[in-house]
Amino acid sequence: MYRTHTCGELNEAHIGQKVQLAGWVQKVRDKGFVVWIDLRDRYGLTQLVFDQDRTPAELLEKAREAGREYVLQVSGEVIERASKNPKIPTGNIEVLVSEFTILNPSLTPPFTIEDTTDGGEELRMKYRYLDIRRSPVKNNLIFRSRVTMEVRNYLAAKGFIEVETPYLIKSTPEGARDFVVPSRMNAGEFYALPQSPQTFKQLLMVGGMDKYFQIVKCFRDEDLRADRQPEFTQIDCEMAFVEQEDILSTFEGLTLHLLEQFHGVHLEEIPRMTYDEALKRYGSDKPDIRFGMEFGELNTVAQNRDFKIFNEAEMVVGLAVPGGNQYSRKEIDALTDWVRRPQVGAKGMVYVRCNEDGSFKSSVDKFYSQEDLSLWAAATGAEKGDLILVLSGDTDGVRTQLSMLRMELAQRLGLRKPGEFAPLWVVDFPLLEKDEETGRYHAMHHPFTAPKPGQMELLDTDPGAVRANAYDLVLNGNEIGGGSIRIHDRTTQEIMFRHLGFSPEEARQQFGFLMDAFQYGAPPHGGIAFGLDRLVAILGGQESIRDFIAFPKNNSGRDVMIDAPAPIDSAQLDELQLQLKK
Ligand code: ASP
Repeated sequence: MYRTHTCGELNEAHIGQKVQLAGWVQKVRDKGFVVWIDLRDRYGLTQLVFDQDRTPAELLEKAREAGREYVLQVSGEVIERASKNPKIPTGNIEVLVSEFTILNPSLTPPFTIEDTTDGGEELRMKYRYLDIRRSPVKNNLIFRSRVTMEVRNYLAAKGFIEVETPYLIKSTPEGARDFVVPSRMNAGEFYALPQSPQTFKQLLMVGGMDKYFQIVKCFRDEDLRADRQPEFTQIDCEMAFVEQEDILSTFEGLTLHLLEQFHGVHLEEIPRMTYDEALKRYGSDKPDIRFGMEFGELNTVAQNRDFKIFNEAEMVVGLAVPGGNQYSRKEIDALTDWVRRPQVGAKGMVYVRCNEDGSFKSSVDKFYSQEDLSLWAAATGAEKGDLILVLSGDTDGVRTQLSMLRMELAQRLGLRKPGEFAPLWVVDFPLLEKDEETGRYHAMHHPFTAPKPGQMELLDTDPGAVRANAYDLVLNGNEIGGGSIRIHDRTTQEIMFRHLGFSPEEARQQFGFLMDAFQYGAPPHGGIAFGLDRLVAILGGQESIRDFIAFPKNNSGRDVMIDAPAPIDSAQLDELQLQLKK
């Protein structure tokens, strides 16, 4: 037996007991006549003591051999500490060591393994196993495990069955790029890793599984944007004989349960907003509704004066910054520079100061009267002491820009409070989205999403106007889940593929198995998938998903610890018939 207790559990109640511990050396303090060692394991820290009066000289000498991160096994008696440490649960006791074994020595670690470390990101990733010994990382992984267990238990209690679906599947050109895996036994042919188990979970519904979930890895070979991982985890769910309302209420239940469980936040329900409304009011399909600063459209009150820029714009839209009239001219100029950065892309910004005496002072006073500006204030909900910021341009572009500005300002004003949670369903997404470059429509969610009842005919006349039974769950400005009601008959699915530019031949070749299945009594069905990594990060009150993944990849998709991806040797390439041309 290596240990009788962990390093996190001893306290006054154990004083006088003989115990055995195992763990890592966090720190050695050698005062000559006495040596203290902090011994660490997953559960905590326990102070070990060796001293001239009570420890045999030989043992005291041996204690001095232990360096940082050595693995020790010790036996001794729990005694009361002279100088107590109220900050840790074991702070009132220490263990007077009588037996001491070095189970394994350690090289000097490349960075300090404490709550705050001197190790840079790259170094910590290279030695991730050491990083994981640090409490912040360790606690995140424990938290992730708790959330995952809670999800499993909740769904299991609601009658969901966890089914595994294959990782080696077939590549399809829809959506993001696939990771492919060459097949040795079928030379020249490739599997693809799933971007999601979408078609399989639908087939499980055809198979009568009724309520399915899976906590599952998904793979997307995308150019990595900040805080994306090429492999990530979804809570993937599907239900048969359901309408949108059934899915929303089931997963509203799960979300509210998690908020209650992990934050004691009790919410009665999750508000809903249509996609169109979200764009109009917040410029985004994943608005953070913890704070206001809603958009006010100003076309009717700002156009048809002498200000050419606004007259020529498709959309003039502004928002009120609470208390923003305090900003100096320099600060407003800096904000203007901020929206003009290429990442945001606005051409310029108009401001209106709302003075305490009820008057306005704007950067466009030449063109607008006080009366005009008071209408702007009404449209944006600005009050005395606020600052109105206005952008103009094409509708989609300007909404995105103002949304970025809204989030930035909220961040600066401290309105994005980590302990506050505001979930939101965004519903009625467009079915199709036009690719401006190719002029082609593609599925906004995926090609299996059903249009709203009665909208099939619109597909021919005004495809962009067709709305889908598709929904996203948004939490604090992040999309944490999304799903839809699916098409479940062959004819509709064929029509959909045709509208997405598939020839009948292509549709059959890529998705024939699904359309065939629809002919054998496919039930109406729908589902949703949550991004587990992001959900856990947000519930954990943090921004970065990487901190909640045991072995994440870096921004170039590399695992710097195992050094992957890596070339494979020539014999392996031969076997796969993949010899690269020299
Ligand atoms: N498969 C979809 C996704 O990964 C989710 C769903 O429709 O259930 O986004």
